[in-house]
Amino acid sequence: MTDTTTAARIPLTVLGAGAMGAALVRAWLAAGHPVTVWNRTPARADALATEGATVAASAAEAVAASRLVIACLLDDASVGEALGGADLTGRDLVNLTTGTPAEGRARAAWAAERGARFLDGGVMAVPPMIGAPGSGGYVFYSGSAELFDEHRGALAVPAGTRFVGTDPGFAALHDVALLSAMYGMFAGMAHAFALIGPEDIAPKDFAPLLVSWLGAMSGSAHKAADQLTSGDYGKDVVSNLAMQVAGSATLLRTAEEQGVSPELLTPYLALMERRVAEGHGAEDTTGVVELLAL
Ligand code: NDP
Repeated sequence: MTDTTTAARIPLTVLGAGAMGAALVRAWLAAGHPVTVWNRTPARADALATEGATVAASAAEAVAASRLVIACLLDDASVGEALGGADLTGRDLVNLTTGTPAEGRARAAWAAERGARFLDGGVMAVPPMIGAPGSGGYVFYSGSAELFDEHRGALAVPAGTRFVGTDPGFAALHDVALLSAMYGMFAGMAHAFALIGPEDIAPKDFAPLLVSWLGAMSGSAHKAADQLTSGDYGKDVVSNLAMQVAGSATLLRTAEEQGVSPELLTPYLALMERRVAEGHGAEDTTGVVELLAL
């Protein structure tokens, strides 16, 4: 059984006192951890010093201070740069810097060569959600299961934790897949607001309609997952592709009538049309996934 009291008190080091790094430091300080922090621009760590953190003069000194080292820097290159002169032997390095799956895997190999265990993380939260129980924020972790198990109590302090596998690329992959889906949603919302823009419809009256419609439609991900698992995109189809493609002409004509560019819509509609042209008109939209594989 994990001793959460002990876990809550283990010393740790945070590299990076940017918006996210500072929020992490504050959450761990509030939970009673001794925290050593390093930031490339020292002045940015001043406020954290007054709140109880120990500020290290260099990344190497910060790494030497604790076995558990959290990096939360701008990008993967800055992690390599910051840790270039540090001795990582015997350290547990948790990288909460956003990167690609390949960067996560390469960074894991890099850490192993330097004698460190490695866990990559993808933060699904913005700074105000850190250290705020109930905010819904969480972090995807992947890489060393031993590191995760040993430090799960401390890692759970700033946000929820989801371990998604021993492949160190999986945290970044889950993170980026969700962010990519989010941008598709943002694109749809931008188009919808542009459509009502010229009319006497208040955006604040329209927003709740968007929220409830997108919420209801997002449940279709479960059916898509079933279809992708079985390979049968014709299973339980409610609105088939042929019907949807025929209906898309109305979407495009409405955009034209409202003086709105269809540029956010047309790439997806074109893929649906291709599936219909290839003989999949009776299926669901799920088959579009196949067209995206390069
Ligand atoms: P900030 O821009 O606020 O901070 C960036 C940090 O990286 C600073 O500490 C900066 O130091 C440091 N840095 C940049 N380049 C280097 C370098 N070459 N060597 C050493 N340190 C460097 O970003 P955030 O704190 O918001 O983001 C940190 C990470 O967290 C990013 O990977 C981001 O994608 C991720 N994240 C952020 C979220 C957010 O909403 N903020 C949400 C989810 C993930 P200096 O002060 O000297 O410039």
